Amino acid sequence: MIIQCRKNISESQIDILAATCEGVVVKYDSNIFVVTPSAHKAVDAQFDNIIETSWVMDSDIQLSSRKFKADTRQIQIGKFTAGSAQTLLTVGPCGVEGEEMMEQTARLIVESGLTSIRAGAFKPRTSPYSFQGMGEDGLKLLAKMREKYGLSVVTEVRDSTHVQMVLDYADVIQIGAKAMYDHGILRACGRSQKPILIKRGFGTTLQEFVQAAEFVLSGGNPNVLLCERGIRTFETKSRFTLDLCGVAYLKEYTNLPVILDPSHAMGYAYGVPDLARACMAMGIDGLLIEVHPNPSVAKSDASQQLTHDAFRKLLESLKPIAAAVGRSIV
Ligand code: PEP
Ligand code: MN
Repeated sequence: MIIQCRKNISESQIDILAATCEGVVVKYDSNIFVVTPSAHKAVDAQFDNIIETSWVMDSDIQLSSRKFKADTRQIQIGKFTAGSAQTLLTVGPCGVEGEEMMEQTARLIVESGLTSIRAGAFKPRTSPYSFQGMGEDGLKLLAKMREKYGLSVVTEVRDSTHVQMVLDYADVIQIGAKAMYDHGILRACGRSQKPILIKRGFGTTLQEFVQAAEFVLSGGNPNVLLCERGIRTFETKSRFTLDLCGVAYLKEYTNLPVILDPSHAMGYAYGVPDLARACMAMGIDGLLIEVHPNPSVAKSDASQQLTHDAFRKLLESLKPIAAAVGRSIV
């Protein structure tokens, strides 16, 4: 339940209301409070002089619900406005591997008329023996691409030891599929105002996914985007299964912009262009595509990254689809 109190109510009136709601009361705004959905049973007419408006929810999808805020949240990321008719096409290698390849990537992005670069400096690898990312040196290279080419930087946080460092360098903080349950990360991101891109865990229900977003929103950061990147099913021919039904659900019921990541879902470059086109046809807020100047030598996710030529071809085929669903690609 979300409660918007009348202006100028006293602290003691809020205390009485909070005690009645019997649960955690999260102050969202100066006079907006979020409480457990069942609280509406206890809040009765005696509070009419305190409460201006209230929204009764049937689950803990609250601040992200279209019941509370009907329009998709507008979130500014450089020249891109999420929640408008623009679709962000954010591309880059899985991981920052060095300056030359980041230069090549940045030039591809600028020549393609796009506005953001995405790569990981802290890689959440399944094995401790695999490439773990360049760490702060990688963040510095991303910042250099921002300075030189005017691109906004999307990069991920792997664990709560370096959240602040990533917040300092990035324009958008990506919380990966494995990190999205980490409440230390979610709460730290809730204290920032930077856009937070939360990727869906591969065993995460839509309810759990959106509840992760609620941690950031209720912490005071209204700038949250969701990213569907495939879930684990019985199928093994693709790396994961892209849940387009889930995307339809998120668009219908939540006010959060939705980004799709066909690269991690498919796991193989050959399938990424078809999937990307299918995603674009759904009228989504963004697409995340992994590209590499030479995918065969990539230090992570080698099999799924597109060559720069393949990406250019894909982009040309995406434009008429975007236009058909009333969108422009930035
Ligand atoms: C990535 O975006 O490179 C990544 C590691 O993704 P995910 O967290 O979805 O596995
Ligand atoms: Mn990757």
